[in-house]
Amino acid sequence: MAAVTEEQVLEALKGVSDPDKGADIVSLGMVSGLVVKDGNVGFSIEVDPERGPQLEPLRKAAEAAVDNLSGVLSVTAVLTAEREAPSSGGGPGGGQGQQPGPQQAGPQQAPQPLAPGVKNIVAVASGKGGVGKSTTAINLALGLAAAGLRVGMLDADIYGPSQPRMMGVSGRPDSPDGEKLEPMVGHGIKVMSMGFLVAEDTPMIWRGPMVMSALQQMLKDVNWGELDIMIVDMPPGTGDAQLTMAQQVPLAGAVIVSTPQDIALLDARKGLNMFRKVDVSVLGIIENMSYFKCPSCGHESHIFGHGGAREEAERLGVEFLGEIPLHIDIRTTSDGGQPIVASQPSSDHAEAFRGISDRIWSKLSTAGRAMPEIVIE
Ligand code: ADP
Repeated sequence: MAAVTEEQVLEALKGVSDPDKGADIVSLGMVSGLVVKDGNVGFSIEVDPERGPQLEPLRKAAEAAVDNLSGVLSVTAVLTAEREAPSSGGGPGGGQGQQPGPQQAGPQQAPQPLAPGVKNIVAVASGKGGVGKSTTAINLALGLAAAGLRVGMLDADIYGPSQPRMMGVSGRPDSPDGEKLEPMVGHGIKVMSMGFLVAEDTPMIWRGPMVMSALQQMLKDVNWGELDIMIVDMPPGTGDAQLTMAQQVPLAGAVIVSTPQDIALLDARKGLNMFRKVDVSVLGIIENMSYFKCPSCGHESHIFGHGGAREEAERLGVEFLGEIPLHIDIRTTSDGGQPIVASQPSSDHAEAFRGISDRIWSKLSTAGRAMPEIVIE
């Protein structure tokens, strides 16, 4: 079966009309960021922000038109509303607001603060998947919330969004004004994730501009309100998509999560270098699944040795923020939508996460980024 080409995709999309404008979406210049790779197709449809919510049928029709082509294995279309950024009141709180405009081709527009009420955005990243990045991100977010801060969680892991499950939140976000989405709320934390917007079994093939437009939409078109800190659960790895994201989102800092093996394999170092390349300060490294803690007797087994991460962090010139053991309670709670910092706040594990989140906040404060005082319980 011959692989589908960009031309064929565009030709198919010419058969899809904008219901209000009476012309096809290609001629109207609404299709952008088209990527065709090995039968997997992705593109964005640019729409006016106020029409976004009504255009889901258009998005579906565009996907269906492409899906009908022979040689297409998967199609992902996202609506983007970038032409007229919604007006944003007030200035940024803590140094964000000068980020460049979107990368997509389109009319020029003045740079807009992506989330004007959010004072600090911190990325939680990892060199590869499966190291516990999402688990760490949510427990750190909950640690920050436990300290009295207003916290948001942006699940930017668009390839495999896991925050809806980890936070035990499901459903679709509302848009009362038809312009901005209301974030969902789990355990007192505002959250937005592709997992709320796209069916779970939808294959997600994202490349450069699409990743950015999805992320920007989740920042800009969501009513985040005033937040002291937003944790961004980054996609795993250190490829182009992650690099662009690190570059385009106004990050106050980044935290790298790794396992002892990961440190040994230098994946963590790649993550570190990625942020350094784009001048984002790395607040530190967290070693997850650091040692095995027996749930029956509490005995600690240092299966992969001990102290490697701390030494490596020192060598790399970054702070070692702490270690989290491999423990069944951490897995069952986060996979069950009740992360340990929320469900077992007096456990040692919760304390370990809170110790790290307190440290992160104090680093942001001393760097002059964080505004309110931390409230220690
Ligand atoms: P990533 O975001 O890096 O892909 P996840 O946070 O989704 O990783 O974690 C992968 C799996 O490992 C999940 O099932 C999670 O519950 C489990 N897990 C993460 N950290 C720990 C830990 N410290 N102890 C036990 N299980 C963990």
